[in-house]
Amino acid sequence: MTTDASYDAIIIGAGVIGSAIGYELSKAGRRTLNIDKLPAAGYGSTSNSCAIIRFSYSTYDGVALSWEGQHYWADWRNYLGGDVDERGLINFVQCGTALLKKPGGKSHHEKVVPLLTELDIPFEDWDLDTLLERFPALDGSVFGPPKRPDDEEFWAEPTESLLGAIWTRDAGYISDPQLSAHNLQRACENVGGEFRFNTEVTGIDQVDGRVTGVRLSTGETITAPIVVNVAGPHSFMVNRMAGLEGTMNISTKALRHEVHHVASPEGVNYGSTGCHVQDGDTGIYFRPETGDNILIGSEDPECDPKEWVENPDDYDTEVSAEQWEAQVLRLARRMPDLGVPNVKRGVVDLYDVSDDWIPIYDKTDLGGFYVAIGTSGNQYKNAGVAAAAMAELIDAVEDGHDHDNEPVVHVGRYTGLEIDMSTFGRNRTINPNSSFSVNG
Ligand SMILES: Cc1cc2nc3c(=O)[nH]c(=O)nc-3n(C[C@H](O)[C@H](O)[C@H](O)COP(=O)(O)OP(=O)(O)OC[C@H]3O[C@@H](n4cnc5c(N)ncnc54)[C@H](O)[C@@H]3O)c2cc1C
Repeated sequence: MTTDASYDAIIIGAGVIGSAIGYELSKAGRRTLNIDKLPAAGYGSTSNSCAIIRFSYSTYDGVALSWEGQHYWADWRNYLGGDVDERGLINFVQCGTALLKKPGGKSHHEKVVPLLTELDIPFEDWDLDTLLERFPALDGSVFGPPKRPDDEEFWAEPTESLLGAIWTRDAGYISDPQLSAHNLQRACENVGGEFRFNTEVTGIDQVDGRVTGVRLSTGETITAPIVVNVAGPHSFMVNRMAGLEGTMNISTKALRHEVHHVASPEGVNYGSTGCHVQDGDTGIYFRPETGDNILIGSEDPECDPKEWVENPDDYDTEVSAEQWEAQVLRLARRMPDLGVPNVKRGVVDLYDVSDDWIPIYDKTDLGGFYVAIGTSGNQYKNAGVAAAAMAELIDAVEDGHDHDNEPVVHVGRYTGLEIDMSTFGRNRTINPNSSFSVNG
């Protein structure tokens, strides 16, 4: 077999996390190559991400990772090494998050508030009057638990009110997630990293339990002692190529997910004056979107069918009438002046979901082969910190460190928080504190 090129590290995938890992490994002096089968960085699931930056996870490490992750976005220009991209840099819109407080227990805020407090993350505990003063377009009733519109209870007159909301002012969203991956590509290229597009990895080469490189659809072979699987919803297929299927306690699979866009109610201008709302009561989240639109995602409530996808290259990419109706009408309950449009607008993409909706950032049983996968619809925000932690983990393991028995602890560059990487290990037991949803 002839070798067509040789690198210190190959990263499979050039989404926001793959590109960030390329950047971190290049900055540390490695010759890297990101390979992606699509035509440009961030064209995979990153492109349809809602790109919300929030801190409302269910576990200590989940919240710590997201708080550290936020600082990368706030410091984007410095982090990238300047104005590196001819297309300009992304905009981090810090519109804040209102996490709605439901009465009667089992409200997500009950898990989150102690963690925000422990980690010293600024938040305000708003009563309902404060929430409605700040965001008068919202209705403060309890409509839940979440139902589908064909359930007659969906339209029942509410009898209770929300308790208010937990407000985190530093939260927000990124204006253009595809551009963020392109920004990272340019930053990576500036420090010597290379990218190759329209090229599919079709095989993982190995000798004596160690990866030696990858094979491409073109028939070429590229060698490298380090290969990182950052293939998003295709991650399980890349692990299968590497012969790793069934070798990890935690597995990943692709889940179809719809996000819808509606115009702001007349006179509300939610696009410029609204905030990100986590509404576990109706089972949706929503945020302002450019052009005075509102973007609506689902918190995957139990009443909604889950559409697992066997083949991530073949799934229905059309917005469905049923899910459109469910998500838009849920928002119409929370925002009574919302007009419900006849024309469906939105995007459909795949989450790469792990068994406990917490990512896997780890080595594997194949020497030199690493994974940053299982991002479960909630790791866009962590691209910077996940990449820094992965680069540290890779350095440590390649230097002979026994990460399986003495897990690497990543110290956040910005916050100094200690993040125990065993939380994201491939062989962890399923984390019972997880919400088993996009809330991680
Ligand atoms: C609808 C939706 C909404 C979301 N909203 C949020 C949110 O609000 N906040 C948040 O934090 N997270 C959110 N997420 C999750 C977040 O977007 C993802 O976790 C993140 O974008 C994953 O980035 P990535 O680089 O790991 O993967 P991807 O962007 O999926 O990139 C993987 C790349 O690998 C390439 N690839 C795969 N197989 C091969 C192969 N064999 N050869 C070559 N290339 C290959 C693909 O072409 C792809 O470009 C959302 C996700 C979705 C789908």
